Amino acid sequence: MKRALITGVTGQDGSYLAELLLEKGYQVFGLRRRTSTPNYENVAHIQDKIEWISGDLTDLASLIEAVRISNPDEVYNLAAQSFVAASWPQPIATGQLTALAVTNMLEAVRIAKPDARFYQASSSEMFGKVQAIPQIETTPFYPRSPYGVAKLYGHWITVNYRESFNMFACSGILFNHESPRRGLEFVTRKVTDGVAQIKLGLAKELRLGNLDSQRDWGFAGDYVKAMWLMLQQDTPDDFVISTGEMHTVEELVQVAFDHVGLNWRDYVVIDEKFVRPAEVDLLLGDCTKAKQELGWELEVGFKQLVANMVDADLKRHAGRPVE
Ligand code: GDP
Repeated sequence: MKRALITGVTGQDGSYLAELLLEKGYQVFGLRRRTSTPNYENVAHIQDKIEWISGDLTDLASLIEAVRISNPDEVYNLAAQSFVAASWPQPIATGQLTALAVTNMLEAVRIAKPDARFYQASSSEMFGKVQAIPQIETTPFYPRSPYGVAKLYGHWITVNYRESFNMFACSGILFNHESPRRGLEFVTRKVTDGVAQIKLGLAKELRLGNLDSQRDWGFAGDYVKAMWLMLQQDTPDDFVISTGEMHTVEELVQVAFDHVGLNWRDYVVIDEKFVRPAEVDLLLGDCTKAKQELGWELEVGFKQLVANMVDADLKRHAGRPVE
């Protein structure tokens, strides 16, 4: 039985990855930090199947112990401060959790289980002010937020540990990926949750920022398969994972409202509060390398993804009293 250690296992990607690995017969260890209000919503259905280890990304001793206890074949480092907008008001915490913590994890693996395979969750936000369209593995980076800067450090330290210590360390440059488990602050989920509330009479409007930015949005359940595939190869490498399709936030809004038969223009209000100090105008990935070398394939397309998310939010809100 293979053993995997996942950080960030209670998040969107962590929960899908844990499901996938459990299906494949892995013993799955999840790192959890102590919080006063634990949130296991995404993993409630598999909570008993995960072996929980207490630890904190900022505490190297606890990570070494977590690696020692789990004795993993594979380590997936998905934990981070992952919301771009929060990285301006909290740039230092973002640096500690999204950048330096990657070194903590790599050190823990190097010290306690150097032959474990390591996956780092890198991000298309590293491309930021894009230097080429579409973006591939070799496109120069130009991050546009403290989050993007922090992810870039995590990316390069992963590459560096591979080259310095000959570790099997891979960096997955994943473009935006969404699902009904996406945090409510991200634009896709904010929109699908807002649409569901408006449809059910629980809200009257949806306040958003920049509707012109363009993203390459895929389904998180498809993307975690790419993470696993990267660690099954003969040699470690870095891969872009994307759909190769780009949509504006306005299109996202339109598709979501259309799905419930409403006109978005009647409900969306632009609120400067949600406009960012520096914006990533567009992201479009070309994942030819992943398709060719990993045999990775996308299953859920954009419209289907948005419809699934709206339906899940409708279901979640149904039954709530009208305020
Ligand atoms: P990101 O690509 O990781 O920053 O993912 P987000 O889902 O947070 O944002 C995607 C895009 O949607 C960005 O260009 C945001 O500026 C834009 N956007 C527009 N309105 C909103 C909003 O109300 N909330 C969020 N999160 N993003 C918004």
